[in-house]
Amino acid sequence: MNASNFASKRPDWNSRGRTINCVIRRSPVATEPSESLHEVVMPKDFLKGAKDHYDVIVIGSGLAGLTSANTLARAGHSVLLLEHHYQLGGMATWFKRQNGHIFDISLHGFPIGMIKSCRKYWTQEIADSIVQLKGVRFENPQFSIETTFDRKDFTRLITEDFGVPHETVDEFFTTARKMNFFDDQGTTTRELFERFFPDRDDVVRLLMEPITYANGSTLEDPAITYGIVFSNFMSKGVYTFQGGTDKLINQMKAEMENNGVDIRIRSEVEKIEVGPDRRVSAVVVNGRRITCGAVLSNANIKQTIFNLVGEENFDPAFVEEAQAVRLNTSSCQVYIALKPGESFDHCGDLLFHSEHRGFDIDAIMSRDISSRTFSFYYPETRPGHDRYVIVSSTNARFEDWAQLPEDEYEASKKDLCETTLDCLEQYVPNIREKVDHIEAATPRTFKYYTRHIRGASFGTKFEGLAASKGLPEQISGLFHAGSVGIIMSGWLGAVNYGVIVSNDVDKYLTPAAASV
Ligand SMILES: Cc1cc2nc3c(=O)[nH]c(=O)nc-3n(C[C@H](O)[C@H](O)[C@H](O)COP(=O)(O)OP(=O)(O)OC[C@H]3O[C@@H](n4cnc5c(N)ncnc54)[C@H](O)[C@@H]3O)c2cc1C
Repeated sequence: MNASNFASKRPDWNSRGRTINCVIRRSPVATEPSESLHEVVMPKDFLKGAKDHYDVIVIGSGLAGLTSANTLARAGHSVLLLEHHYQLGGMATWFKRQNGHIFDISLHGFPIGMIKSCRKYWTQEIADSIVQLKGVRFENPQFSIETTFDRKDFTRLITEDFGVPHETVDEFFTTARKMNFFDDQGTTTRELFERFFPDRDDVVRLLMEPITYANGSTLEDPAITYGIVFSNFMSKGVYTFQGGTDKLINQMKAEMENNGVDIRIRSEVEKIEVGPDRRVSAVVVNGRRITCGAVLSNANIKQTIFNLVGEENFDPAFVEEAQAVRLNTSSCQVYIALKPGESFDHCGDLLFHSEHRGFDIDAIMSRDISSRTFSFYYPETRPGHDRYVIVSSTNARFEDWAQLPEDEYEASKKDLCETTLDCLEQYVPNIREKVDHIEAATPRTFKYYTRHIRGASFGTKFEGLAASKGLPEQISGLFHAGSVGIIMSGWLGAVNYGVIVSNDVDKYLTPAAASV
């Protein structure tokens, strides 16, 4: 790929105004790992006033990084949080456009457990903004359903509409609920469904499609990862953060500042330094060396091992294991804002649309899109803000977008916008007349903004957890918290994993009196 092909294009979420083709010096899509946002706009020293030493340096401000930084600062450690982007949040992010439009990237739904985690590890105020989304819809050639997406309603649907005996459904839910991480990982999700719902691809579709849409998991993934995530949702339904991602992240930022975290944006870590005693000693960020007692990386686990630390610092067997860790797939999104004053009738909060018959992972991932998840944002999403916004998400493979020449890439994004509007017309009549702003993001966009290899939306497959947890055994003082496997990903998984790893860091720094 010729980088100069891209030299005049502006990063998708970074552009202002209506179109996606504005001009700047560099493109998001041609970036090499060493390029960074701060290189694009480097106006000042973003590390001015930073100390030369901290107890802990947290690399990355995804939800796991933010939660770790806050938890460790609360425990009394001096914490430096370094984020390469100009905004905190990682995938939990948003962007603004002309005419007062605000788009959320990953605020589509999470389980109720987020309320407890936010209350415990953040603030009551944050927890109080979490509300239930009651309208989850499925529209596909096999069924048309609206549900509250909880066990009671799913049991009703599967027994009454799909005709499966009550005992079977009950046993399925109980089996999924009982799964925990230490169970056998040999059973696949496919085998789990075959046991309870043989030859029922309609039931499998209902149970599996939302989880696949959400995180790219497949029928070949371990049943426990499906069981845990699905049961988390089924316990009480799907929740969202009222006020939008910007409000959440700003509240988190304020709380971290209260607790003394030194927060630095536009600060890309280039290197984690390891001493001859195999202990972390420092990081190199924006060309400056800052020493520390421990490093907690929220960057992609493979990136942490291979790019930031370097494989020469690990045992060969560990390197081999880490090389074998598979990445999750990525996403495309289309962001659609209605003109001020325009609206649409209630059409659900989350709508899983598909034109494909049966559950088909290849069709879900294909660039020839037949499946879309629509998130409808009403004015209640952001009280005080009167806009109607729709975000369409589809699973996508990085390789389908990575090699496209620039003109084809732009044409494909336009096509994605057009076909999304065509599809949306059936749910929001006259949508084209109402639209004020539309643009698309692709796996390249996700890679650019979060540095995840291949733009992986949900980090790695489940085996990434062993690499993540194994880091401190390889290098003293080196920890990782971030999306590895389905359970440690997503908003809730990332927050909770951040807490778990902070506890380990705290023990490492103060072995006699771990206080987290
Ligand atoms: C399109 C989409 C939709 C989603 N929908 C949902 C949903 O509905 N519900 C849900 O629960 N989850 C959803 N998710 C997933 C969820 O957003 C993520 O799993 C979660 O936010 C990841 O958090 P994380 O802590 O792993 O870090 P990430 O969000 O991956 O953040 C990592 C951070 O590290 C920074 N970083 C990386 N390298 C460096 C470096 N060298 N120096 C400095 N900083 C660095 C990055 O810039 C980034 O800010 C969605 C994700 C996507 C992409």
